[in-house]
Amino acid sequence: MPGRNEGADRTCPVCSGPLSLGGSSPDSLVDALQASESRFRAAFADAGIGMALIGPDDRIIEANPAFAAMIGHEAPNLVRTHIHEIIDPEDSPRQLYLELIRGDRDRLRVAKQLKHREGRVVWSNVTISLIRDGAGHPLYTLAMVEDVTEQRLLGDQLAYQAMHDPLTRLPNRTLFFERLNTVFEFGTSGPTEAAVLAPTGLSTSGLSTGLGATDVDATDLDATDLSGADLSGADLDAGTLGDLAGSVDPAALDRLDRLDGLARLGDPDGLAELTGSAAQGRRIGLCYVDLDGFAAINETLGHHVGDELLVAVAARLERGFAREEGRLVARLGGDEFAVLVCDSDGSEQLTALAAELIKTLEDPFEVAGQQLAVTASVGVVERQIVETTPTDLLKDADATLYWSKADGRARWTLYDPDRGAHQLTRQRLATALRPALERGEFTVEYQPLVGLADGTVHGAEALVRWRHPRYGTLSPDRFIPLAEESGAIVPLGKWVLEESCRQAKRWLLEFPDAETFVSVNLAARQIWDSDVVADVAQALKSTGLPARLLQLEITESAVLGPGGRPVQALQALADMGIRIAIDDFGTGYSNLAYLSRLPVHVLKLDGSFIEGFRDPAPGGRPDSRFRRTDADEQIVGAMVQLAHALGLTVTAEGIENASQAERLRLTGCDTAQGWYFARPGEAERIATILREGRVRSV
Ligand code: C2E
Ligand code: MG
Ligand code: MG
Repeated sequence: MPGRNEGADRTCPVCSGPLSLGGSSPDSLVDALQASESRFRAAFADAGIGMALIGPDDRIIEANPAFAAMIGHEAPNLVRTHIHEIIDPEDSPRQLYLELIRGDRDRLRVAKQLKHREGRVVWSNVTISLIRDGAGHPLYTLAMVEDVTEQRLLGDQLAYQAMHDPLTRLPNRTLFFERLNTVFEFGTSGPTEAAVLAPTGLSTSGLSTGLGATDVDATDLDATDLSGADLSGADLDAGTLGDLAGSVDPAALDRLDRLDGLARLGDPDGLAELTGSAAQGRRIGLCYVDLDGFAAINETLGHHVGDELLVAVAARLERGFAREEGRLVARLGGDEFAVLVCDSDGSEQLTALAAELIKTLEDPFEVAGQQLAVTASVGVVERQIVETTPTDLLKDADATLYWSKADGRARWTLYDPDRGAHQLTRQRLATALRPALERGEFTVEYQPLVGLADGTVHGAEALVRWRHPRYGTLSPDRFIPLAEESGAIVPLGKWVLEESCRQAKRWLLEFPDAETFVSVNLAARQIWDSDVVADVAQALKSTGLPARLLQLEITESAVLGPGGRPVQALQALADMGIRIAIDDFGTGYSNLAYLSRLPVHVLKLDGSFIEGFRDPAPGGRPDSRFRRTDADEQIVGAMVQLAHALGLTVTAEGIENASQAERLRLTGCDTAQGWYFARPGEAERIATILREGRVRSV
């Protein structure tokens, strides 16, 4: 194939027309040239690949049969045809082609859509070479055209199948996750807007948009290895586009804006700005939809009815919710669908969307000749992209959907961080604990311990809280076990201890006669793994709290320690004058006789004993409920008596109403704690109660 037409330039090598600017040459050279011309002519005519010579006026000088066949013509009929009759003028190579015919470049490779005579599109890869005269001036161009329609259609089809659910034809899990990942990539990393938006085109248009109609410089091709059919949109995955956007020059980026919604990409500064702002403010939302009772429909009416229903539901969802830009409606599997909002305005937008989703599905479906009514439950998660990950978003949406189901179905539920916090990966919370302590994210609340005989506050239990910046206030049940596991309980417990002693000292200063003690929970690991005696001594010393105003709560299992031996530290603590309470008594071994031989002063009866007190006082009716209440009362009564006999005082936990308090008082229990008296609250609340004298009359 001639790259440059050297030597005699009088005739076109194919059509022998007068083309050259003249010049003479020796006969031998003319012979050689003629031989070369006839070889070229034969190659041109017989080539399997489409070839055409195009003049500077954009008209075909000559086309070979392969090219003519490709677009449904006879070769001779194409002579003088303007290339815009074959290639959409919109799709004509502008800048690069102009450079080529001006002689500024020699070769150009492009992917083109050609118009077949029957109107259909022929996808092609075209290599255009410039033919110059002896003086190096541009004469005409030679186009070599490869038909890649089949590859492209197959690619389209495969990509479509890989990304769509065969039953409902909605985007499937793969496409959903691909989209989700690219949204996140864009929110947190470099210039991948192309990657974000490319799948929009892929999902909605069956892959028919893309780079197919884009000019690509040969050098770009080398750089990105976009050879052959790779230039069709079907073969460009998000990653390739991301690479492309990251590696090519701004002009190439400019060309990418053919992709859906890519207009902004043209300006590299704008791109940087976009990326920066994305990391800051962009939000994402997800409605996770699950049909209620779908399994029953499948079982009772058969799978074919179930399938039809899913198709109808999918169609309704797609019609109602997929049209808006930045939305993706996908089937995640079974009867689960997702509506992804790639650029959310806030949680109100998402909850409104969820309500609309539920409403849309409310009207009965006409399926298999019958009317079927279904309801849906929706889990809603909405948050800043930088605050979350695709995995977390999905996990939380899943949890939220489960809450919707648990709360009675046919409803939406917005993700509640506190409710969800216990589902956080243990790892994440555990690693966040120590830094959170350093940042001062923990606080202590106090709950009064009330003397049942006179209704006065004797002391207060210190209950730690984690004011988590993202998940709100977390209760200790959520993080104490993790802190125990990781060992973070040691510094945390030490902090709680000091904070509580400091607070009790303040109460002492303000109410010297009240002798209000503070009761601090100690975790097993604090007792076994740290020098708790030294820590307690240090806390008392630094705060100036007398040891008698400190009570330490330890569970029965913690007291026994490894191997069942009592923890030696107990004695040392008791010797300091500190009171030891057994927390949650009744949930462990409940070995009262054994405990009484240890330096233990108080039993805190677990709230579950008091729960049974909630029922009305027994009125003689032989109802099992009342018999149980009766039994609970007798057990508590017996325990109180036994504890007293062994020299222990008794505190009951979880008192929620007056009748429980009253009946507990009748058992002889000493102190009580519970919402009936006061919920855990700020230290100032205790001071207020102390000022008033009594919590409430018992
Ligand atoms: P606990 O020591 O048995 O504390 C009593 C729990 O019962 C507290 O839960 C309290 O808020 C709750 N409660 C109080 N009154 C009522 C009521 O009337 N009804 C019901 N249903 N519950 C009531 P909280 O604050 O969530 O603490 C849970 C547990 O976390 C505590 O149980 C304790 O074992 C542990 N904990 C709390 N603070 C600390 C701490 O600083 N260190 C250690 N190691 N553990 C702590
Ligand atoms: Mg406690
Ligand atoms: Mg307790």
